Amino acid sequence: MAFKPANNIQDLQYFGEFGGVNPSISDSSTYTFLSAKTMFDTFEGNADGCYLYSRHSTPSNLYLGQALAAMEGTETANVTASGMGAITSVLMQLCDAGDHIVSSRTIYGGTYAFLKNFTPRFKIETSFVDITKLDVVEAAITPKTKVLYCESVSNPLLEVADVAGLAKLAKKHNLKLVVDNTFSPLSISPAQLGADVVIHSLTKFINGSSDTVGGVICGTQAFIDDLRNVNDGACMLLGATMDSLRAASILKNLRTLHIRMQQHSMNGQYLAEKLEKDGLKTVYPGLASHPSHELFKTMMNKKYGFGGMLTLDVGSLEKANALMELMQKQNLGYLAVSLGFYKTLFSAPGSSTSSEIPIEEQKEMGLSDGLIRFSIGLDADIERTYDMMRECMKELNILE
Ligand code: PLP
Repeated sequence: MAFKPANNIQDLQYFGEFGGVNPSISDSSTYTFLSAKTMFDTFEGNADGCYLYSRHSTPSNLYLGQALAAMEGTETANVTASGMGAITSVLMQLCDAGDHIVSSRTIYGGTYAFLKNFTPRFKIETSFVDITKLDVVEAAITPKTKVLYCESVSNPLLEVADVAGLAKLAKKHNLKLVVDNTFSPLSISPAQLGADVVIHSLTKFINGSSDTVGGVICGTQAFIDDLRNVNDGACMLLGATMDSLRAASILKNLRTLHIRMQQHSMNGQYLAEKLEKDGLKTVYPGLASHPSHELFKTMMNKKYGFGGMLTLDVGSLEKANALMELMQKQNLGYLAVSLGFYKTLFSAPGSSTSSEIPIEEQKEMGLSDGLIRFSIGLDADIERTYDMMRECMKELNILE
């Protein structure tokens, strides 16, 4: 049967131990054994269905991991305490001292800082490139390169990676293609396009209620087993483990992701079209003017649209700040980082989520002072939202 990410989530059935329609939560950090031998076998990873200690795995974490693996179409998945817990574990697992990474230059500021400032301490160097140019990506590959890293839709510039093209390059040069799909869950399925590892910050759209941080690594059984290995697994040893209570609550939210993504995308598309017509510098993958609009169309699961993220360049940081403060006052959304909430969230990435990137590099990649990143909410009446936004922009002379 054709791969259908939301169906794959829906078709999984988990029941609680008393027949509850949600699985019971495993509220324990450690587990008893009837025999010492089974405990030993479990430690060695040879006793299926037995649990030892909750940093290894828990029933609740496995349920959530299975559902996310089904969504991405990978063999399995491991949930982590945060998106950064997923990213850092994967990269530390795949790279040894002396190895090299080729990464998109427009990525989340925390990931950029990790690659630029932290991994060099372990002699892992990164070349940051324009990921939309496959020839530039290939030219940056050296005999030491182990990983190609990108975001399917990048934070904050909304550049779109040609995942299938990158997967071909990765195969040719024997590299692992690692894709952070945080901005485009359900819309893009990177593993189906050839990515080896798919990561999400669950903190964002997938959980959708801005009440927790969380992450996931989706990949092959062999890779996830490596990450969990008690002797040298990065998830096991670095300890970015999700708590079971959180895993249970994220699983419940995941079940409405398909409906939320449709609404985020519908609202994003509506606002992007209107704002662009008004003459504002608007970036949204669903606009024909987006340089990778056609590419996105070839990759997307159509039903879920082009996502809820858009950017507007209003010319200066002063104007951006004034607009965000006024929109917050009008209850159009919140001046806050993060994304995927029911309410619209906005921030100026140059001075917030991407501030780890030096100013000269921000300029070079096109991250301007006046850029506002919007995570469009689930507004029931987006026409009214647009009218109110317009009023704010008129008041500040951003629009006539
Ligand atoms: N990846 C992307 C694209 C992000 O935007 C973020 C956070 O903003 C992360 C990863 C990190 O996730 P977390 O904050 O859950 O550690």
